[in-house]
Amino acid sequence: MLSNFKVVLVETSHPGNIGAVARAMKNMGMDQLRLVSPKLFPHADATARASGADDLLREAKVYGSLHDAIADCQVVLGASARDRTISWPSVTARECAGKWGGAPERLDIALVFGRESSGLKNHELDLCHYLLRIPCNPAYSSLNLAAAVQVVCYELFVASGREHAGSVGDRGEDPLATAEQMEAFYLHLYQTMVDIGFLHPERSKSIMRRLRRIFNRIQLDTKELDILRGILRFSQNHNLK
Ligand code: SAH
Repeated sequence: MLSNFKVVLVETSHPGNIGAVARAMKNMGMDQLRLVSPKLFPHADATARASGADDLLREAKVYGSLHDAIADCQVVLGASARDRTISWPSVTARECAGKWGGAPERLDIALVFGRESSGLKNHELDLCHYLLRIPCNPAYSSLNLAAAVQVVCYELFVASGREHAGSVGDRGEDPLATAEQMEAFYLHLYQTMVDIGFLHPERSKSIMRRLRRIFNRIQLDTKELDILRGILRFSQNHNLK
């Protein structure tokens, strides 16, 4: 979970949007939702639009002011579709992800989103360190609130490296082999290669290093390691006969 990112919604009018934001966040591995004086919350429309992310709604914290909602955060970004007359330092969603996507978990970062009708007020942006922009059609630049949250959270999700995290688990149920298990495997591999006459102990260093590189690239799980060790055992037994 990217729990150090706090999505803060300021005075949201439509409860359905709050639900859609919860869903967008959960899709991207975020779980910290903060609401500043929402017009209607809790509400059945929020729960319906959350569609399975209602745990985020139950856990959402409600505040009376933006000031209180961001008090514990070290970095505060205010998302705005509009160019402002006063210039705040600004970052695009992608730049934000590049800067903070890999931030350590102890760094709490607030992503503040404004009202559907009028966005964030200047005195609210004064509380933000950066203006956060999603580049888009300049003639039609205001995204739906939940769509804006989706884009920002997606960029952070990809930048945090979690994009590929699921693929390892999806391969199967088995946990990845530990370093200790891999060391035992390398020893077994070495011993087998010597036993079957493939490897001369004096010339073993560079080939073992290359073999390690192969296995490091693919990250074996415990089941796969069992299969390989089974083959090694079989070769050793076969060789003794
Ligand atoms: N009509 C409002 C926009 C409301 S959209 C206005 O004039 O400001 C609701 C919120 O979604 C905005 O306050 C902002 O936080 C976010 N948002 C929408 N489009 C965005 C964009 N292109 N870049 C950054 N944030 C955006």
